[in-house]
Order: sequence, then structure tokens, then C-alpha cells
Amino acid sequence: MNQRHLPNNNRPREHRRLGSHQTPIFLVVLVSTLPIAILLVVSYFQAIAYAKNNLESIIKTAAIETKELLGDADNILHRSKVDLQNADPQTAAKILQREIYNDFRFREAAIINSEGLIAVSSLGVVDPPLPISPTIKSSFDLNNPNLQILGPGRSQIMQEQSIILILKGSGNIGGIYLLVDPAIITNVLTLIPDLDLGSDGFIAFMKSDGHLLSSVGAPPQDIFSHLYSPSPRAIQVTQTTDDGNITIVGQVSRQWALRYWRQELLIAAPFTLLISGLLAYLFLRQVRQANTLDFELKRGLAHNEFEIHYQPIIDLETRRCIGAEALLRWRHPQRGLIYPGLFIPIAEQTGLILPMTEWLLEQVIQDQATLAPRFPELYTTMNLSPTQLNTGDVERLIETLRRVKDGFQPTLVFEITENTLVEEHGQMVQDAIARLKLWDIRFAIDDFGTGYSNIGYLQRLDVEQLKLDQLFIKGLEFDNNMVHIVDSLIDFGDRMGLTIIAEGIETETQYQYLRERGVRYGQGWLFSRALPLEEFDRFLQAQEK
Ligand code: C2E
Ligand code: MG
Ligand code: MG
Repeated sequence: MNQRHLPNNNRPREHRRLGSHQTPIFLVVLVSTLPIAILLVVSYFQAIAYAKNNLESIIKTAAIETKELLGDADNILHRSKVDLQNADPQTAAKILQREIYNDFRFREAAIINSEGLIAVSSLGVVDPPLPISPTIKSSFDLNNPNLQILGPGRSQIMQEQSIILILKGSGNIGGIYLLVDPAIITNVLTLIPDLDLGSDGFIAFMKSDGHLLSSVGAPPQDIFSHLYSPSPRAIQVTQTTDDGNITIVGQVSRQWALRYWRQELLIAAPFTLLISGLLAYLFLRQVRQANTLDFELKRGLAHNEFEIHYQPIIDLETRRCIGAEALLRWRHPQRGLIYPGLFIPIAEQTGLILPMTEWLLEQVIQDQATLAPRFPELYTTMNLSPTQLNTGDVERLIETLRRVKDGFQPTLVFEITENTLVEEHGQMVQDAIARLKLWDIRFAIDDFGTGYSNIGYLQRLDVEQLKLDQLFIKGLEFDNNMVHIVDSLIDFGDRMGLTIIAEGIETETQYQYLRERGVRYGQGWLFSRALPLEEFDRFLQAQEK
């Protein structure tokens, strides 16, 4: 493997990124907070709906109970009306007493005489007769045959806050009433667990005229007007008993409804946080992965982001271009031009080097075919990776050659670095080279002098060129030892009968020295950098003039 790649190659995976890449933090936050947001929103509406349903069923139960109470009162009063018809006051008191004992919901019963005064009560004969209540202003209508509801107000005899359920009598009986403790009406609500309205709402039982009979929670003073314009953030449910006598209004604040929400959140939050964390982790991993070079490489290859730049190879005697080295460049959409030192090692590790080289080979042949009519002598050299040779598997390259050549006979040199040529792969490399030679490919040893080289092995290898690494050329001007090394490398090449190509010629001095030493070919910035095809074409045209 090319030595200049080694430092890159050994870097830990994490660092193999294309410079610093902005992780889209807002996206991570968005993705990871999504479950929490969904939980909040869904459970919020769920809690409101749940509270409303709950309230509806409470009010419904209350309406049923209330209707039953009124129905029972009506029955008792009708029955008593018959029983009391011809009873003397003592007997009447006993009859009333029995009814009260039989039903705990009623605290007192009484007969009203034709003047509207209490004459007999379940507690005894009232003599002289007394008004129904000292606090209730409204009186009952003697012409109304239905059950009437008065109060609540303080009862005359027991002096307790009561609702009066009263029925018109007949004969000398003006009417009969039953007293109900207002708490009996709301009693049904005490059976509901967790109702606990406090100051967050109320349930109110109203007469059809809007008069408040009984309530729990904190009903507003003007409950009747409130009924028709509830506060916008409150949840309100209203139901009137079938007989139309009593309307029940239930109202809870959002605060109350959201008690369930908070409870739900408390249970669900740890799970949701866990899921959020997991999502954030997975997402970040995905983002990191997407930013790694190998992932990007694959994408780049699929999106045709690679291009080839040709560095002219010069005949040092005539100073004319006789060929070019095809060098890969990656035009990354965000990061611009990326050089092979960064991506070739990764491509080698991931195996992407194989499709990459096939593409390169195909492209190089096409480009040469484009130039061939005007520059028929031109040859192209391209780099092979060790992995392509030391597995002995060059079938895909041969397949590409077979497919692309199509009448045109390209002149190609494949460069292999010294490191590829270690003994353990010896036979395989030799075989691979032999098979490619059947397709008229020539071979060059790249970066010669830098790697491990078994001279004996080199002798057995069927190659045509040696490319002197630029490291030696650079040292020529400043380092006397380097001059000796270059001399001996040149001698070695000459003795082996190999064509020597010097790499990285940057100055006239280097050029002159190499030329004097009989090095026939060279490449370097002194002549030209690697150029895109069109520029390389212009470079060739310019030297024709
Ligand atoms: P290499 O094959 O030895 O290629 C020569 C490198 O030296 C190129 O760098 C070239 O741009 C650079 N160079 C040429 N003249 C001068 C000069 O005067 N001064 C200096 N300082 N540098 C000069 P590049 O293009 O960055 O390529 C680096 C290496 O990447 C290549 O070294 C080659 O081993 C590898 N590479 C490039 N393309 C491919 C490819 O398609 N396949 C494989 N497997 N490796 C490739
Ligand atoms: Mg090369
Ligand atoms: Mg080289």
C-alpha cells in the first residue's frame, strides 16, 4: 500500500470524517422530543374528554336519583292524602310519623290547612297552626295539582334548612308536605370517588325557575345566568330531570380535568423519556454514520461525484507530453474537491475501491479514445490498489476491459506500489499481472524506493517502468545523500532495463539533474499539475504550436 496513505489508514474510524460536520441539533431535538410532544397533546385531549365523560355520568346518576326522590315523595303524598282523609288530628300525626319512619330521606311531614298553615305534623298536632316557614317567601299554589317544590328554607317546627315537597290536598286538607334535607339531594355525589371539586367546580341542583336547591363545590352566586354563559375554559354538563322539575348543572375547571392528565403523565413520563433518549441516540448514530467517509463515499460513487484529473508525463529530453497519470478527485457537493489521500484508504478498506477502479478504467479508456485521433501516441497510467492484486482477483477489471474496448485499443499502464509486492502474495500478484498483460496492459512500480522491496523478487516481476518517488526528487537539491540514493536507484532501474519516470519534479534544477542523469521521463508541477480532461486537452494542443 502507498505509504502516504498509512497515517490516514490507521486513524480510528470516528475521525474519518470530512472535516467538521454540523450535526443538525434542531433535528435531534425535534425527533427526540416528538414522543413527549405527542404524549402531552394526546393525553391532554384524552384527559379533557375523560373529565367530560366522567362529569356526564355523574350528572346522569344525580338526575336519576333526584327523579326517584321526587317520585317517591309524590307517591307518599298521594297515599297519605287518601289515608288522612277522615282521620282525627292525633291519628293524622301518627300516619305522618309512620311515613317518615319508613323513609329516612324525609325528615318531617305535615298537613297544611285551607289557610295555608301547618295544622298537624309528624311530630304532633300544631295548635295554634303555624306558617310553613319563617324564611320561605314563596307560597304554594292551591290550584296546582302537581308536586310543588319550595325552599330551601328553615322549617317552622324543627328549624332546620329544608326543601319542602308539597302536594295539594282535598276536603279540609289544604295540602301535605314532606321536608327533605338539601344534603339528601347531593348525597348521591358523595358516593363518587375522587370527585373532590373544591374550588375547581360545582354540581348544583336548581328548580326550574333557577332557584338553587342544593349544591356541592363552589357554585357562583348568580348560578342561573352562569348556566347560559359558562366561562370559556370550563367544562359544563347540564341535565334536567324527566319531569322538568330540577335541572342539574355540573361544571369543572380545566384545572380539575387536568388532574387526570398530570396523573397520566407521571406514569407515562419515564417510559416516554426512555423512548426519547433511545430515539435521540439512534438518530445521532444515524447522523454520525451518514457523515462518515465510507457512507459518503458510497453515496458519492452512486451520484457520479468522482472525476479524473490527468497529470502530464513528460519526455525530459524533448519536454513533450507523452502520457498522463489518471488521478482520482472527488467533487463533494458541500466540501468541494477532495484528494485521494483522504478517501482511497477508506475505499480500500470498505471494498469500494473495486467499483471505483472499474469506473476509473472505463472512463480512462473513453477519455483516451476521445484524444486518440489527435494524439495517437498518448498513453495513460492509472493506480491499482494492493487489494486488487494480492487477492489475484482481476476478473472484474478484465471484464471492464472486455466490455469497454469495443474496437479501440487503449495504451494503458497500471501502477502498483512497492508495498503490494510482498512475498506472501508473490504468486498471486504475478498471476494477476500475467493475466492483465494478455490485455496489453503494461506495469509500473509506483513510489519506487519508499517501501519494502525485495530486489530479487522485483527481478522476477514482469514490469516495464519504475516511478521514482517524489521524496527522492525533493531531496536532490538539499541533501547530498539523497543524490547518491537517486543515483543508485537510477542505476538499478537501468540495469533492470526498466523505464524510469521521476515523480514530483518541481524545479528546473531537479529537472536538469535528472535529465543529465539520463532519466527519460518525469512528471511534476514544473510541467503541469493534474488537469481535468478539457484542460489536459488544451495543454496538449498548446505544445503542438
Ligand atoms: P501517486 O500515484 O504517487 O500520484 C502522484 C501524486 O503526486 C498525486 O497526488 C499528484 O498530484 C502528486 N504530484 C504530482 N506532481 C507533484 C509535484 O510536483 N509536487 C507535489 N508535491 N506533488 C505532486 P494525488 O493526486 O493527491 O494522489 C495521491 C496518491 O493517491 C497517488 O499517488 C496514488 O497513490 C493515490 N491515487 C490517486 N488516484 C488513485 C486511484 O485512482 N486509485 C488508487 N488506488 N490510488 C490512487
Ligand atoms: Mg501513481
Ligand atoms: Mg507515486
